Order: sequence, then C-alpha cells, then structure tokens
Amino acid sequence: MNQAFQQKLRAMAAGPVLFDEPLDRYTSLRVGGKADALLFPQSVYELEILVRLFKEGGYPFLVAGNWTNLLVRDGGYRGAIIAMKDFRRVTWGEGDKNYVMVDAQAGVSLSELVRLTAEQALAGMAFCAGIPGSVGGAVMMNAGAYGLEIKDVLHKVTLMDDQGNMTDCLRNDLSFEYRRLDLPERTIVISAVFCLERGDRQTILDRIDEILDKRRQKHPLDYPSAGSIFKNPAGHPAGLLIEAAGLKGLQVGGAKVSEKHGNFIINTGHAKAADILALMEQVQKEVFAQTGIALEPEVRIIGD
Ligand SMILES: Cc1cc2nc3c(=O)[nH]c(=O)nc-3n(C[C@H](O)[C@H](O)[C@H](O)COP(=O)(O)OP(=O)(O)OC[C@H]3O[C@@H](n4cnc5c(N)ncnc54)[C@H](O)[C@@H]3O)c2cc1C
Repeated sequence: MNQAFQQKLRAMAAGPVLFDEPLDRYTSLRVGGKADALLFPQSVYELEILVRLFKEGGYPFLVAGNWTNLLVRDGGYRGAIIAMKDFRRVTWGEGDKNYVMVDAQAGVSLSELVRLTAEQALAGMAFCAGIPGSVGGAVMMNAGAYGLEIKDVLHKVTLMDDQGNMTDCLRNDLSFEYRRLDLPERTIVISAVFCLERGDRQTILDRIDEILDKRRQKHPLDYPSAGSIFKNPAGHPAGLLIEAAGLKGLQVGGAKVSEKHGNFIINTGHAKAADILALMEQVQKEVFAQTGIALEPEVRIIGD
C-alpha cells in the first residue's frame, strides 16, 4: 500500500488504522502474517467512505468479525481488513405476544446475544452458546450447532455492497447453504434482525448450560483453534472420519489434530499457518485414501 493511500486512509478514518499489522494477535488460531492495513470503523458512515475509497484505489478488502473462522497464511494479506468489532448495538424491535424482533449489529458477539436474549426470556439463540463468533461472521458462515443454523432464526439482514450502498434483505431472499451464505464478493453484513419466540427464562438458561457443558466435554477449549476445521460431509461427521483414520494426535510443527476431537486442529504453542495447512492436507489425503471421502475446509483460508 503506497504512502499516499495510507495518508488518505488516516485522514478519512475516525477509528484506529494500523499498517503492517500482524494478524496472529487477532485470529483464534493465533497464526497469520501481516495485513497491509487493519481498520476499525466506528460508524456505518465511515464504513461507506472506506469502502468507496478501496473501490476507487483498487485495493482489495476483507471483513473480519471475531476472527474465529479465519486461517490467515503466514505471508499475510495484501489489502485492508475491516474489523467490525465496534458495531455493537443491540435494539429490541417490534413484538407480539409470541415473538420479538432483535436487531443486532455485526460486531455483537454471539455470546452476548445469547446472554441478552436469555435475560429477556427470548428463545431461539441458545444453540449459539459457545460459538465464539460475531453476528456478522455467524450470518456469513450460517453458523450452526445442535441441529439449528443462523438462517433458522434470522428475519432479515442489512447489507452494504462494494460501492457503499445499503440494502435490507429478507431471510427468504438469501441463499443459505451449509456453513455458507451466498453473496456477491465484498458484501458486508451491517446488522441482522432475529425473530425470537417468547419462552421461559429458566428453561432457556438450562439449555444454554447444557450446551456449554457438552462443548466443554467434547472440544479442546484450552488451545487456540478455529472450531471445526472441515465441513461434515453428508452423513459422516468429519471428526469421526478423522478418528477412524487413526489421525488423532497427528502433528506438523506446532499444529496438532486434537486428541479430544478429531475435527479440531489446535495450535500447541508456536504453530505457523503453514503447519496447519500441511496438517490439513495430510488429513484430507489420508481420509480420502481410506474412505474415498473428500474433506472440505470449513475455515476460511486467506492471504499469501
Ligand atoms: C472453539 C470454537 C468453536 C466453534 N464452534 C462452532 C460451531 O459450533 N458452529 C459453527 O458454525 N462454527 C463454530 N466455530 C467457528 C466460528 O466461530 C463461526 O464460523 C463463526 O460464525 C465465525 O464468526 P466470526 O465473527 O469469528 O467470523 P470471522 O472468523 O471473523 O470471519 C468468518 C468469515 O465471515 C466473514 N465475515 C465476518 N464478519 C463479516 C461481516 N460483518 N460482513 C461480511 N463478512 C463477514 C469473513 O470475511 C470470513 O469470510 C467455532 C470456532 C471456535 C474457535
């Protein structure tokens, strides 16, 4: 990124602007090289200005939520990363005797939304308990667990396109797939409205506790990871395929297939992105050799 463009960014941005920023400080896997620029816009207006600036300057950009599904290569990202963490407003919307609409900006963490909605005795978000992402990341990934996905509770989203234009889209006009929302490249999720059913507060809190308990038992939460590293092929949980192939505990450098859950690759301390990628490849090859099933990454791999 040239100096003139850096200066322009500094002048236009109200929030922090960091250049050549190492991304291992942010990713849940604790790996990743430097981004040319990392920005933390403070308002939709600022976001719009930045997006237009990137378009004019021909600079690629990428949006980050809580960085819990991003594997950034060691060479870093040539372009700007827009971090949505400061979009944190939650608004209680219309309701009737059965349902309430909850409008959450992209940077709200799922854990906060789970807690806030449970306090209000609103059911529907408990399945997100323990998913460490943001609302924006969860919508883009169609995050899910325990038989439910974000699309099941979503009413509409507010999006910004790569020219800075905003639109509202109803859930039924969006194409959700397994762990994916199909949108034009560089579309930004600004906020999402969830339709939640009024319920019993204690029942909701019990369900949340039950889910968090299951996660603590099954997942290696003491180590950096990105959650499930591969998607589950139809009818075959990836973790069981990896375990059956005898790959639990397999290690490349500081990256290891968790002994606790076959579909988690953990950073044991000093892993590089290259270790994780090499380990993923070994796992894919071995599972394919033994079963003929091709595992597809769930984690989004970016950078050089
Ligand atoms: C311990 C652990 C457990 C997990 N368990 C689960 C689970 O049970 N189920 C599950 O589905 N996932 C799980 N995950 C993965 C991850 O938390 C989810 O995919 C989550 O939805 C990612 O949200 P994020 O904000 O961290 O997204 P990021 O990692 O920041 O980004 C993910 C993708 O979304 C895009 N993105 C993020 N925000 C926006 C936005 N506002 N607008 C446009 N694009 C955006 C990014 O560009 C990227 O492509 C787990 C991860 C960990 C570490």
